[in-house]
Amino acid sequence: MTVIQNYINGEWCVVDSSEYLDVINPATTEILAKVPLSPVSEVGRAVQFASQAFKTWRRTPASDRVQPLFRLKALLDEHFEDIAQTITLECGKTLAESKGEMRRAIENVEVACGIPILMQGYNSEDIAKGIDEMMIRQPLGVTAMITPFNFPGMIPFWFVPYAIACGNTCLIKPSERVPLTMQKLFHLFEQAGFPQGVVNLVNGAKVVVDAILDHPTVRSISFVGSTPVAKYVYSRAATNGKRAQCQGGAKNPVIVLPDADIAMTTKIMADSAFGCAGQRCLAASIAITIGTAKETFTDAIAETARSRTVGFGLEEGTQMGPVITAQSKDRIEGLIQKGADEGATVLVDGRQPKIAHYERGYFVRPTILQNVDPDGEIARTEIFGPVLSLIHLETIDEAIALINGGQYGNMACLFTSSGAAARKFRYEAEAGNIGINIGVAAPMAFFPFSGWKESFFGDLHGQGHQAIEFFTQTKVVIERWQDWTRQF
Ligand code: NAD
Repeated sequence: MTVIQNYINGEWCVVDSSEYLDVINPATTEILAKVPLSPVSEVGRAVQFASQAFKTWRRTPASDRVQPLFRLKALLDEHFEDIAQTITLECGKTLAESKGEMRRAIENVEVACGIPILMQGYNSEDIAKGIDEMMIRQPLGVTAMITPFNFPGMIPFWFVPYAIACGNTCLIKPSERVPLTMQKLFHLFEQAGFPQGVVNLVNGAKVVVDAILDHPTVRSISFVGSTPVAKYVYSRAATNGKRAQCQGGAKNPVIVLPDADIAMTTKIMADSAFGCAGQRCLAASIAITIGTAKETFTDAIAETARSRTVGFGLEEGTQMGPVITAQSKDRIEGLIQKGADEGATVLVDGRQPKIAHYERGYFVRPTILQNVDPDGEIARTEIFGPVLSLIHLETIDEAIALINGGQYGNMACLFTSSGAAARKFRYEAEAGNIGINIGVAAPMAFFPFSGWKESFFGDLHGQGHQAIEFFTQTKVVIERWQDWTRQF
């Protein structure tokens, strides 16, 4: 049985813990590994070494700091298949989805390799006679990343490559439900040749998170997870004087106008709502049909939902895997019932499916709830499973008002062939990631992952320029050299 280890100061260490959790393959329910819930002392040790390593790492020129990142990129390419398989094993998504996830992770390493130019400041000569002013960016020190279960390979990479490229050191706390992927990725960090203490891994749960939030040497927190925990982490980090970027949950609405290409819309929407078994923070959760789209889209999406092949993600032909735990399955099935109790029709019912050879797995098949009450709980609650709610309205204005009345603002999409409708939507919709004829508006690594409202707490997002701003502090220097005009 694999026992997950921590990686501190360039060394793998078996954790002295009284508590271990099983890491379970959600398709087969096989136990893959045991993960320790590390005690507070492990955070103290990791931070101490990270703080020591920072002294040298921040003095390493940017062009030298990116060399291990270039090697990491090559190693990630080389071990791509193995890491993707590990993601599928512990997280449940299909192999194609795991590969897509790792491609996105690698893109962030590539962007961070541009740090010698991306981290530059600016200057003005002669702000007054003989006086110059410049802004330089300096790293923060020890940074920490706390990540969720649904993208164990990609999400840490929204932050880590930028943090270390900027000259910081870091401590990563992956989700205790999917620790195997990070275990493998840390072997690649090790081979890439980062100096000891620059990247550290501490496994665990709330106790570890609280110790990170309270540690006076940790300068910043990058968190991704559910909204209640994001709020908690943000406020505790702020109370302790840390900078924080905390991405939370979502409830992503999509409007389908009558002039949309229904065949294309259906294909894209099915992937958005049921891809990764709906466990994406950018999963379409509500489809708002306008006018005649009610009939055309409803029939097409119901057909697509019924025909989706559900099974073990490593098997050829599987289009959708299980959800993460038995508790998630129960919660999702409970919410489907709640929708029905609120008056919705369960048009396609994915509860209690029989998946051949995987009868014990945590499967919920694609589900469609029709005529969902826009004011009911189901229209507001993040389901985080393969459930699409259909709401019908008469105008795009009503649909935008419904979207803007929601608590989350991670993503909103529109399907149409009208440029004017698209512009109106892009202008008025209150969400940070907008898709026009796109179902998963996931920003590339060189754009910020821009959640709004209850989907994000902070101001600087992960990825791209904003990540660099987050992981650096600006310093302004004003200089006068009295005798600079004399003859040398
Ligand atoms: P989660 O909030 O349960 O856990 C996230 C992290 O917080 C984990 O590392 C976990 O160990 C830790 N944690 C959990 N409870 C805690 C507590 N009480 N105190 C301190 N730390 C705690 O989230 P999850 O179930 O792993 O992930 C799914 C959620 O993440 C969904 O809500 C999804 O929308 C969200 N998510 C958001 C984004 C985004 O970009 N906005 C991306 C991916 C996932």
